[in-house]
Amino acid sequence: MKLLISVDMEGISGVVNWEQVKPGTSEWQRFRRIMTEDVNAAIGGAMDAGVNEILVSDGHWNSDNIMIDLLDSRARFNCGKPSPFAMIQGVDQQVDAAFFIGFHARAGTQTAVLDHTWSNATIANVWLNDLLVGETGINAAVCGFFDVPVLLLSGDQSVAREAKDLIPGIHTVIVKEATGRFAANCLHPKEVQSLIREGAKFAIQSYQNGQGSQVLKIKQPVEVKVEFKSTEMADRTQIIPGIQRLSGKEIIFTSEDMPTAYQMFRTVAGLAG
Ligand SMILES: [Zn+2]
Repeated sequence: MKLLISVDMEGISGVVNWEQVKPGTSEWQRFRRIMTEDVNAAIGGAMDAGVNEILVSDGHWNSDNIMIDLLDSRARFNCGKPSPFAMIQGVDQQVDAAFFIGFHARAGTQTAVLDHTWSNATIANVWLNDLLVGETGINAAVCGFFDVPVLLLSGDQSVAREAKDLIPGIHTVIVKEATGRFAANCLHPKEVQSLIREGAKFAIQSYQNGQGSQVLKIKQPVEVKVEFKSTEMADRTQIIPGIQRLSGKEIIFTSEDMPTAYQMFRTVAGLAG
């Protein structure tokens, strides 16, 4: 069984502000180690349950956060950007299931640490058809195109709720209780890692028993609506053929399938910023 572990940083326990997830800061140096240890816990639990191939994809900022020298040597590691599938690089390579570690709630969520969708500077909201989604939904939908279920997610209580609403049967590990955008009541990393390890084992065993989470299927072609934070961002993206301007801050486009929608969304988000 081959598992893809997609990793973000805002949903790591102890992280409550941007400084802690900004590459190069001393705080980031501290949390990238904890992030790596959380991933090792997921690898350990999955392998305990019989997974024999693991691909870890670093999905935060420049995708160079996880410390390869501290990473469990049984996993392969995707880092650097841009890569064809970004946060879920490798999803098209015969993966059976996925885990999302260190994820955060979508932009606009109340009581959610560092809530945002793809880019805190530019994106206000994203809809796939009429479904309002954040990074969990966008990435899970691309996984869904490849028939890959997302079995486990770790992060705060708000992203856990968001994941459960989108993906029936997903197992979540709540590593901190957000009390605001920049505040949370956090579990100690050692406690988190023991929960992730147990959760990973449980999620894989459930999948093997035919009780894994549902694959997130989005009806195709996919209509993607993006609301930006300001009008000039929509102005910049409007030059892309196929983009339709809906209002001052909103654009819409249609893609034949979810991977194409993902690439188009990334193009739009990049151009907007
Ligand atoms: Zn991130």
